[in-house]
Amino acid sequence: DTVPVVTVDGPGGAGKGTISRLVAERLGWHLLDSGALYRLTALAALRHGIAVDDMDSLTRLAVELDVAFLVDQGEPRILLEGDDVTTTIRTEDVGNLASQVAALPEVRRALLQRQRDFRVMPGLVADGRDMGTVVFPDAPLKVFLTASAEERARRRYLQLQESGENASLPSLLREIQERDARDTQRSVAPLEPADDAVELDTTDLTIPEVVDQLTAYLVQRG
Ligand code: C5P
Repeated sequence: DTVPVVTVDGPGGAGKGTISRLVAERLGWHLLDSGALYRLTALAALRHGIAVDDMDSLTRLAVELDVAFLVDQGEPRILLEGDDVTTTIRTEDVGNLASQVAALPEVRRALLQRQRDFRVMPGLVADGRDMGTVVFPDAPLKVFLTASAEERARRRYLQLQESGENASLPSLLREIQERDARDTQRSVAPLEPADDAVELDTTDLTIPEVVDQLTAYLVQRG
C-alpha cells in the first residue's frame, strides 16, 4: 500500500487522541480513532443488552456495527445506528467495557478491515493500541506515546472537570492502572511498541511540543 500512515499507539491518557487529531489537521490527512470503534461496539452491546462474555453476539455486533464518522460545522461527530453518541462513548463506563470487549480476538478480527479501509489518500494518522503492530505493520512512521500513570490520571481529571463531569483523582488513577494491566497483559494484540516504533514520553511535554516532534520525525523519515 502506497498511502502513507503514521501510527500513534500507547496507553490511555498519553495524549494520542489530541495529538493524532492535530497532526492529521496539520498534514491534511485522514484520522482513524480506533478506540472509538471498540467504544462503539461496547455501547452497542449495552444498548442491545448483550453481555461481555457472549462472544458470538459481540462478534456479530462488531461485524454489523452501523457507525458514521462525520464533521458537522467543523466538529467531529460519531453516530451509532443514526444517534449522535460523540460524548456518550467517552464516559469511563463505556471505556472500561470497551477494554473488556477489546480483549476478545474475534471482535478484534471483525474490526480489522474496517480500520484498514481508513487508509486512503493523501494519508492517514491512526490512533490506538495496535496500529503499528497489527493493523498497519508497514506504516512508514510508528510512534509510541507514553506518560506516567499519575500524569495521565491528572490529564483525564482536568478533561472530565472541563466537561462538567464528576471525577476523583485517586479512582481515575486506579482505573488507568487497571486498564493498562488489561491492555498490556491480554494475549491478542497486547499494548506494546512495534520494534520499529519511536517512543516519546510526553509527561513533561506540552501538546504543541509533541505535535512538532511528530512532524519532525515525519520529515526525517521522508
Ligand atoms: O483509546 P480509547 O481509550 O478510546 O480505547 C478504549 C479501549 O479500547 C482501550 O482501553 C483498549 O482496550 C481498546 N483499544 C484496543 N485497540 C485499539 C484501540 C483501543 O484494544 N487499537
